[in-house]
Amino acid sequence: MTYHDTLFIGGEWIAPSTSQSITVVSASTEEVIGSVPEAVEADVDAAVDAARRAFDDPNGWPTWSPADRAAAMERFADELDKRAPEIAKLVSAQNGMPIAISSSFEAAFPALLLRYYAGVVKEATFEEEHPHMMGGTTVVRQEPLGVVGAIVPWNFPQSLAAFKYAPALAAGCTLVIKPSPETVLDSVPLAEAAAAAGIPAGVVNIVPGGREVGAYLVAHPRVDKISFTGSTVAGRAIGEVCGRLLRPVTLELGGKSAAIILDDADLDLATIGQDLFQATLLNQGQTCFLGTRVLAPRSRYDEVVDTFAALAGSLKIGDALDETTQIGPMASDRQRDRVEGYIAKGKAEGARVVVGGGRPSGQDKGWFVEPTIFADVDNNHTIAQEEIFGPVLSLIPYTDDADAIRIANDSDFGLGGSVWTRDRERALGVARRVQTGTIGVNHYLPDPTSPFGGVKASGLGRELSPHAISHYQQYKSIFA
Ligand code: NAD
Repeated sequence: MTYHDTLFIGGEWIAPSTSQSITVVSASTEEVIGSVPEAVEADVDAAVDAARRAFDDPNGWPTWSPADRAAAMERFADELDKRAPEIAKLVSAQNGMPIAISSSFEAAFPALLLRYYAGVVKEATFEEEHPHMMGGTTVVRQEPLGVVGAIVPWNFPQSLAAFKYAPALAAGCTLVIKPSPETVLDSVPLAEAAAAAGIPAGVVNIVPGGREVGAYLVAHPRVDKISFTGSTVAGRAIGEVCGRLLRPVTLELGGKSAAIILDDADLDLATIGQDLFQATLLNQGQTCFLGTRVLAPRSRYDEVVDTFAALAGSLKIGDALDETTQIGPMASDRQRDRVEGYIAKGKAEGARVVVGGGRPSGQDKGWFVEPTIFADVDNNHTIAQEEIFGPVLSLIPYTDDADAIRIANDSDFGLGGSVWTRDRERALGVARRVQTGTIGVNHYLPDPTSPFGGVKASGLGRELSPHAISHYQQYKSIFA
């Protein structure tokens, strides 16, 4: 049980402005596992003020040398490492992520990212001088943008927050982080780690709350940049507000990516099973980049159906805190309703359930859905066009590589995807033609040193890689 009655604002644990709280229920057991205060507008004001003061302080975080910031970020990483088991447990208990996954993606990865950006920024000067075209000299500076509002979803709460705070801290920005109400408990060890590392007061502030609090933060007059990860619906609303305010914004949104199985692909699960799972079903489908439209060549369609049926049928379903679990529950009953609604729609529109389609037997508690494989799916079916965010795959037949690329691109989204073949050159040829922000060959795993993000309705801007630091900076030219 994690019960907290204070908010982390301005480097201190302070009393919230109201007695409202967010109670979190375990996705696996449906039991209450803790609560934190719910931030309201007055708390967001306090957090933004703290972040503002920390940014405007003449000796504040943005004025620290990159090397000093890097050292603090490395200490922050060390403190996160100390709390890694606690973080993994809290994330898994809340959102149902199998603990084997949260231990690496959620508990270990943020520290890795902090150290990576510390390394990138260590030697940076963010200032260069070159001759002015008309004579004299110009000094070009990359200055931190200011106070960042970072809004994160519940599916990978720690790593997706780190996608934002690691480059933002490297750039010299201060942050107000708003976690999703489903995953607020893990923000406590995050705040404790920042404080223990000596990240100065007000540089990182956390306001747990829902959509209204998020919307208030987005439009707050003293915020300089919004970095959002979540649904496309929310992203559009946030983009509209930021457009009106001329406020820089990064949007990491939904996906409906294609896993393209070429006709020479190795379909032996003993070889590709783990990679195929990670690229299509990781975190029981509650992962934005998954290839949930599986494009299968007509010449090997039945074989592909059998492969996915065997994969889905082999996965161990269970409590997220069990080390051997591969498929945990949906994060909330609302999310399970949504997934089950799509399964019903798939059946109604004529797709064929090969495996799954219901709730697993033997799981009396928890919001579980069976891994579900639909065959004979047309790309126009609702289940092929809309993001389900559950363990539901649509197997769509195609005739040749050009047809596969056409179907892959016939989507509102463009975030991830994968190409499966024994021929790397052929894979690269296909990958180059898929309209997407990222794509893997015979696996899918984002590379922190490379840009990550989406095209079309999957987002605006990129995270990760050294370039992400520049999304938290603006240029200034001094004609000296
Ligand atoms: P969501 O959009 O409902 O909520 C995300 C966050 O935004 C939450 O903290 C929520 O409280 C807040 N929010 C919602 N509406 C808001 C508004 N109008 N203004 C300000 N804040 C608002 O999404 P979710 O259900 O929590 O997460 C699942 C979605 O996130 C999926 O669509 C998934 O694809 C997407 N996602 C994208 C990426 C990516 O990198 N592209 C990564 C993970 C998840």
